[in-house]
Amino acid sequence: MSSATEAPTLALHGGPKAVQATDPSLFHWPIITEEDEAAVLEVLRAGKMSGIDVTLKFEEEMAAWHGVRYALAHNNGTAALQAAMWACGVRHGDEIIGPSLTYWASLMPALNLGARVVFADIERESLNIDPADVERRITPRTKAIVAVHYTGYPCDMDRLLEIARRHKVKLIEDVSHAHGTLYKGRLAGTMGDVGCMSLMSGKSLACGEGGMLITNDESIWQRAAAFGHYERTGGPSRYAKSTVAITDPELTQYAGVPLGGFKYRMHQLTSALGRVQLKHYAERRAEIDRAMNRFGDLLEGTPGIRLHRVRQENCSMGGWYYPLAHYNAEELGGLKIEKFCEALRAEGVPCAPGANKPLHLHSVFHGADIYGTGRVQKTEIERLPVSEGVASSIFSVPWFKHDRAGEIAAYANAINKVAHAAKRGLIQ
Ligand SMILES: *Cc1c(COP(=O)(O)O)cnc(C)c1O
Repeated sequence: MSSATEAPTLALHGGPKAVQATDPSLFHWPIITEEDEAAVLEVLRAGKMSGIDVTLKFEEEMAAWHGVRYALAHNNGTAALQAAMWACGVRHGDEIIGPSLTYWASLMPALNLGARVVFADIERESLNIDPADVERRITPRTKAIVAVHYTGYPCDMDRLLEIARRHKVKLIEDVSHAHGTLYKGRLAGTMGDVGCMSLMSGKSLACGEGGMLITNDESIWQRAAAFGHYERTGGPSRYAKSTVAITDPELTQYAGVPLGGFKYRMHQLTSALGRVQLKHYAERRAEIDRAMNRFGDLLEGTPGIRLHRVRQENCSMGGWYYPLAHYNAEELGGLKIEKFCEALRAEGVPCAPGANKPLHLHSVFHGADIYGTGRVQKTEIERLPVSEGVASSIFSVPWFKHDRAGEIAAYANAINKVAHAAKRGLIQ
């Protein structure tokens, strides 16, 4: 069976690993320098962890980068999403439509507002929410659509915007995977009614626990601020004044308390770190983009394997958070993806089959009674074939932070080696 002259023995079968030791800096994130340390220490030594003066500057810079009028910092991305949902009018008994293939925070905050989550399926190629399926699920109760630019791949915003406008529902962008992603030259988060992003340490723009809401809509900014930022409501406060004021009388009548009953202010160690990280983000993101595209180019021609990346004009993958590859078992002798990944890991390539477990399969949407109101989801949830298929058609691949040709080639060669062995039936 192993008589083939050129086929190297798989590490799975006792051969040498294709990837020998890699300098761990290839993957280390975020990149922290003395500049970050100095910025954080300054806030710490001044005892300003709970103020908003540094946060206001960070907001200004985030708004400027995105070319939007307002940015509102939050203690995490989940909070920013919930504030955005409430600001978009999501209330008790309403519905919000989103993808099942995402991190839970894209949609679960809606449950807390008394709304129901309606899952739409995704597109096979982009892995993003399928606009046609979204439209099919719109009802008079629908208040908002959440578009998640999953793994940095931009959603089909033209169609989603057209559908949202025609049905008069709000479009919320979850940009937690897609800091700096371009869709036809426009930045993710700036096309819908409001954009929300996580800034936690594992994300592309990594600032510690934190989240940012961005919008051009002043009323959305006002409502989001009133929801979780009591210090900005005009009530008595010893914190710095925001440059944008809440003026809507519907909101100012409650000055002094947050309408959500939540405190969503950003920790200023995050704001300080965020300002420095943002300053270097364009350059570091560009390097990741070169590295990942180099990797994707090297995989071209590998049987059964294709890097998940956008190939459209003026579109990008942002910081390539959570990179994935498409797996076609038919081209690989029908080999199960689990076995393929096992063989890859043996070669020294970290990887795992599937991506996020689809949310509609989670037990919380099938009987949980969180608020003593009965099940949180009162209707049956349909099967979502494309979302469910991801478990056997997608696997995670290394996320390179530096464009080092030699090391990246070693990873691509490992995948190539395993794929060719699979194609020839050498893996059982
Ligand atoms: C990380 C993440 C969030 C939540 O952000 P946190 O800062 O962790 O609260 C929301 N949506 C997606 C898609 C995420 O990956």
